[in-house]
Amino acid sequence: MKKIAILGATGLVGQRFVEFLSNHPFFEISVLAASDNSAGKRYSQAVQWHLDTPIPDKVCQMQVQKCEPNFDCDYVFSALPSDIAGPIEDEFVKSGYIVFSNAASHRMDENVPLMIPEVNLDHLNLIDHQKTPGKIITNPNCSTIGLVMALKPIMDRFGIQQVHVVTMQAISGAGYPGVASLDILDNVIPYIKNEEEKIMTESRKILGNLKNDHVEFADFDIQAQCNRVPVQDGHMLSVFVETCQKATVEDIIKAFEEFRPLKDLNLPTAPERPLIYLPEQRSPQPKLHRNLGNGMSVSIGRLVQISEKRFRFVALVHNTIRGAAGCAILNGEVYEFLREDLE
Ligand code: NAP
Repeated sequence: MKKIAILGATGLVGQRFVEFLSNHPFFEISVLAASDNSAGKRYSQAVQWHLDTPIPDKVCQMQVQKCEPNFDCDYVFSALPSDIAGPIEDEFVKSGYIVFSNAASHRMDENVPLMIPEVNLDHLNLIDHQKTPGKIITNPNCSTIGLVMALKPIMDRFGIQQVHVVTMQAISGAGYPGVASLDILDNVIPYIKNEEEKIMTESRKILGNLKNDHVEFADFDIQAQCNRVPVQDGHMLSVFVETCQKATVEDIIKAFEEFRPLKDLNLPTAPERPLIYLPEQRSPQPKLHRNLGNGMSVSIGRLVQISEKRFRFVALVHNTIRGAAGCAILNGEVYEFLREDLE
């Protein structure tokens, strides 16, 4: 078993790490870390638990640590807020730890993989160009993950000219305590700080081509507009896409359904079907479909052809699972699986 430390273990994403890693076939939680306010407390006292499964017994009594690089562990999963994650993660990497980060701080660094294993596994090779004793691998912004997973099979088969996306993002995306209830109940807020920029830049890096020590960004136009909506979990995306080559609705659904790039690796957190196309007119919906594939599948519906090369559809991604902790864990599993080749 590989020993795992979770930074930001008391937050909403940290709780998903705890949930997924407390019963994992080759990772075991050895350290839970958070802010100085939580350090020294038992995990069950420090955390405001928000999941509908109980706090796993094996972590209840663990003492929360400060985020300092003195842990006995093999891998570090970081769910720290982006405004403080950068320097803390740097300390861990300088001290020789392998860090898998959810935070935005290092996502756009040239030598840092911004990885969704089903989409750009080859970008993992960027870590060979990191000159530090440890390494850092990041996963993208939560909405970006849902968008890019849906775009990847379209891009591979038909090319992409342009993308417009409008998001409807759940309140858990803002962490805890997040958005004030008086701001979000009975309301939609048409602004999420830095979110549109992240979607527009991260997508082109993830879908770009690896060129030795950097990624050449994918060359398509993309516009994003983000809204916060009163949903607990699950980000919805209304997507418009223009392809380079002609396609039909049937072609695109086939591309979604046949998208199973990890099927031979048998990774515990990889869903059998990364993309699930739901033909019913009223699908997908956060309440009904966010947990498909154990929260790791992206649900797609409402695919409409506008003209020979222009389509629109709706995608749904569980923001704290596939959009955060689940993607980081899958990155960890892939690293563990391929590590022999890298060393
Ligand atoms: P959160 O609920 O606000 O949790 C933040 C965590 O960081 C808590 O454990 C907190 O510990 C800890 N922390 C805060 N300040 C700290 C400090 N100075 N030193 C050490 N630890 C500190 O946030 P979240 O929603 O889980 O998000 C975590 C990260 O994942 C962020 O970078 C976010 O952008 C990213 N992300 C979130 C989502 C999502 O859907 N929520 C999706 C994708 C990516 P205390 O409890 O002790 O304060």
